Amino acid sequence: CGIVACRTAEPAAPYLVRALGLLEYRGYDSAGIAVQTGDGIAARLRTVKRVGDLETQLAGWDDSALSGVGIGHTRWATHGSVTEGNAHPHSDCHDRLSVVHNGIIENATALRRELELSGHVFASEVDSEVISHLVEEAIVVTDDLLTAVRLSVDRLEGSWALVAMDAATGRLVAAAHRSPLLIAHSPHGDFVSSDVAAIAEWVDDFRTMRDGDVVEIADTLLWENHGVATSAPEPIASPWLRT
Ligand code: GLU
Repeated sequence: CGIVACRTAEPAAPYLVRALGLLEYRGYDSAGIAVQTGDGIAARLRTVKRVGDLETQLAGWDDSALSGVGIGHTRWATHGSVTEGNAHPHSDCHDRLSVVHNGIIENATALRRELELSGHVFASEVDSEVISHLVEEAIVVTDDLLTAVRLSVDRLEGSWALVAMDAATGRLVAAAHRSPLLIAHSPHGDFVSSDVAAIAEWVDDFRTMRDGDVVEIADTLLWENHGVATSAPEPIASPWLRT
């Protein structure tokens, strides 16, 4: 339903929770965030209550262990019941890779069966979880998140806007196909969202992802479409004036 991700100089969690709060108007049944920690794994918070509950849980987090890289999601369940375990972000078997996803993976059942046969253990009932395991499988071979995400989305059928985070390196990669996703650079940091309203207070303009795009969120965006390096679309001015 709603996606947000950021790379900021300050801790990511308050940005993520603020942005998810601004996505509440779209409706959702659960929400969550994952943030890169100093020891190369992701820390996750998820809830079936309001986004405000994430803020309450955050009070118990040790800020010093958390980086400025993170991803967040508000979910409208399509596959799997509404539980904390089915809320995004979804993870791989080692809490290294985390993924937030909007849309529906139509071949999730077949992919899940294949991944389980090669030893992956799933923690949820959700179609989206196949993405984190596909990326986990690919990154072992490529050691590169951008390539791993591209190889993974090549296996997907359906619709997706997604962001994958590699907590070992702090890298973020976004991909889109038949579902909206925006990327913005600003003095506050780099942001990704499915809805400009969520990040409007920090950005002046944003770029819209096209079908098949896979992008590394970095100072210089590495932009590919179906594996071919391509130029980034021109930025579009935000309809809101940043205050
Ligand atoms: N299909 C995914 C799920 O059931 C994503 C739903 C969404 O777009 O929020 O969790």
